[in-house]
Amino acid sequence: MDFNFTEEQTAIRDTARDFAENEIAPTSVERDKNAEFPYDIIKKLGESGFMGMMVSPDWGGPGFDTISYVLAMEEISKVDASVGVIMSVNNSLVCFGIEKWGTDEQKEKFLKPLASGQKLGCFCLSEPEAGSDATHQRTEAVKDGDYYILNGIKNWITNGTTADVYFLHAQTDKSKGYKGISTFLIEKGTPGIELGVKEDKLGIRSSDTCSIGLNNVKVHKNQILGDEGLGFRIAMETLNGGRIGIASQALGIAQASLEAAVKYSKQRKAFDAPIASLQAIQFKLSDMATLVDSARYLTLNAAWKKDQKQPYHKEAAMAKLYASKAAVQNALEAIQIHGGYGYVREYLVERYLRDAKITEIYEGTTEIQKVVISREILKD
Ligand SMILES: Cc1cc2nc3c(=O)[nH]c(=O)nc-3n(C[C@H](O)[C@H](O)[C@H](O)COP(=O)(O)OP(=O)(O)OC[C@H]3O[C@@H](n4cnc5c(N)ncnc54)[C@H](O)[C@@H]3O)c2cc1C
Repeated sequence: MDFNFTEEQTAIRDTARDFAENEIAPTSVERDKNAEFPYDIIKKLGESGFMGMMVSPDWGGPGFDTISYVLAMEEISKVDASVGVIMSVNNSLVCFGIEKWGTDEQKEKFLKPLASGQKLGCFCLSEPEAGSDATHQRTEAVKDGDYYILNGIKNWITNGTTADVYFLHAQTDKSKGYKGISTFLIEKGTPGIELGVKEDKLGIRSSDTCSIGLNNVKVHKNQILGDEGLGFRIAMETLNGGRIGIASQALGIAQASLEAAVKYSKQRKAFDAPIASLQAIQFKLSDMATLVDSARYLTLNAAWKKDQKQPYHKEAAMAKLYASKAAVQNALEAIQIHGGYGYVREYLVERYLRDAKITEIYEGTTEIQKVVISREILKD
């Protein structure tokens, strides 16, 4: 076992840290308050290679490994988890899926601009009546010669109003159940796409989430990713990698909460001494640091297995399960350590809690991660 990072991985982490501190931090409070999408930041992240980090240079990416992706995601999310999720969806869901299953023509048209940050993607699986149980897709794609006509509604789509490319799942053959789901690549502006209003969210408010209606949307058969009927497998495999991204996002929030708590506990005095001298506070900090390190090792382990081309879906689920819990727990404790100041917007810790909660919900809830893990450990 080698726990050291390579020179390249360290350089990527440091670049992401500098970018987060200099380019993201100055506007994060205002963007959260006003629920403003970080257009300029995402453009610059793309120009710096962070929007398609693992995409091969053949298709316009830098070809970094998953460990580097985890390190960058943690640094970005530590400063702003909204930027983290925008980056995560584009990298580990959309770019990954197109690179793995796309034809050369699809990669040329969709992947190159997505990997270089010229375009932004979104991943459309959830529906009003299909969340944890994605096998029951109500969105239908009916074949019409060389085309498909799509009707339905996708719900909760991150990057929904801003994305240029929709990585979208629909039922092409109802009689086959989940084996009759297919994935489509659809461009913004295709007639019949109806964007819902932006959701007014508890956290990750600077990210953009909306529903997407499909009203007789006509797409050519060459816009199917992989084969017809492969959509559910594509969705599940992309979500496995996506969970490493969300675990890293959660890790960033957990680390930020710890750092804020340490700093404040050294400054704040009670009973004539910094509260950091109280054992009750020291024990909280110890627990928070242990959660962060455990979450980090689980996340890096999942990333390492993915890089080694070993099965990693159980490890990714464990990382997401644990890191999201660590994020919520650490944000709560950071607020407690800040006392009344933790409850108001003057300090960042109340945002950490609002941002942390979603990591227990999207890309598979905490309960669904436990379903994935237990299925794996119980199998013969
Ligand atoms: C801000 C935000 C961004 C999102 N971004 C995207 C996106 O970009 N693309 C996308 O496709 N989706 C996205 N989602 C949707 C998200 O993935 C779903 O909300 C999530 O999968 C849960 O589905 P649901 O909301 O329908 O809840 P349900 O599936 O209705 O679950 C309700 C409750 O029941 C529990 N439950 C359900 N089934 C089981 C089970 N078998 N065992 C135990 N407990 C169970 C759940 O854990 C949960 O606690 C986003 C959601 C939000 C809020």
